[in-house]
Amino acid sequence: MDQFERLSQLPLRDDLRGQHPYGAPQLDVPILLNVNENTFGVPLDAKEAILKAVADELDGLNRYPDREFTELRRALAAYLGHGMTQENIWAGNGSNEVLQQLLQAFGGPGRTAMGFPPTYSMYPLLASGTGTGYVAGIRSEDYGLSADSAAEQVRAHAPNVIFLCSPNNPTGTALGLDVIEAVYAAGEASQAIVIVDEAYAEFSHAGTPSALSLLPGRPRLVVSRTMSKAFALAGARLGYLAAAPEVTDAVRLVRLPYHLSAITQATAVAALRNSDSLLANVEAIKVQRDRIVAELIDMGLSPASSDSNFVFFGGLSDPQSVWEQLLAEGVLIRDVGIAGHLRVTAGTEAETTAFLSGLRAILAK
Ligand SMILES: *Cc1c(COP(=O)(O)O)cnc(C)c1O
Repeated sequence: MDQFERLSQLPLRDDLRGQHPYGAPQLDVPILLNVNENTFGVPLDAKEAILKAVADELDGLNRYPDREFTELRRALAAYLGHGMTQENIWAGNGSNEVLQQLLQAFGGPGRTAMGFPPTYSMYPLLASGTGTGYVAGIRSEDYGLSADSAAEQVRAHAPNVIFLCSPNNPTGTALGLDVIEAVYAAGEASQAIVIVDEAYAEFSHAGTPSALSLLPGRPRLVVSRTMSKAFALAGARLGYLAAAPEVTDAVRLVRLPYHLSAITQATAVAALRNSDSLLANVEAIKVQRDRIVAELIDMGLSPASSDSNFVFFGGLSDPQSVWEQLLAEGVLIRDVGIAGHLRVTAGTEAETTAFLSGLRAILAK
């Protein structure tokens, strides 16, 4: 009996039978450009500040941490600006946990969440884990989403929770605020919670507005952010949301007590105090991102315009073979399962060069 058969003999929930866990491959390869991490790592001064902050927590580690992580919420509000205060902020162990808590509070059996694929692959998995139905909306042929189309689909499906990913993963493109406003208005009838996932907001081109500016007067709107990408802290697991204070009260009903460890809180607060240093590489990453787009066009491929730290590109006759050949060269990128396309994270200049020259050589064969 193999492991899968043994699993199927357990009294698993019916709706989990036959499902597979989320799993971008974690391979031991020199150049990792597959899960949109900040490949520059944590700068020395930020590392020292985090180390000291964590050391200072050790004396109190026999006690439960501040359940309300008040200092962290204050620091996150100050970072976001837009008139946010600690009352508007909630955080979890990665934004995935925050999204899960939102579904626990606003989704669940008999309710539905809606997303617009291709989009973040965790949305349907989080829906399934919380017993929430999932409706896949549609995008235009070029993967765009207009305000009219999105609003019409929301009115047709009347979901309880709507995921708008901006900049969208895997395509990289940001949504106009008009789309978010239209979806919010269309969700009025079903009283939908509208979650704008801005995991990559810090990488957007100058002048790209954040949905944070739409929060006043919109109690069903939630903006989700993370320290996993621009802040180079994917390993620390800290994601957060900004919303009306009553949304954070709703999430308090489902969160586990003391879900954010003292170590996590100290790490995140120290990181936010050193945000200038941690975010210093964002501009360099944006330069590599724009370089990838330009060079892919030069290779005759068709990259989507990107406001994120990755590029989604089409025009490949056999993406799986390209993916495998790059891997053989020590460069891991992402096959997101969309015909003719692959996705690559913008890394350091050297990593980006390795990807681009590897790809050029493969295409020249
Ligand atoms: C990477 C990513 C996240 C971040 O997840 P964390 O749990 O905060 O690491 C959230 N949303 C999208 C669209 C992402 O690509």
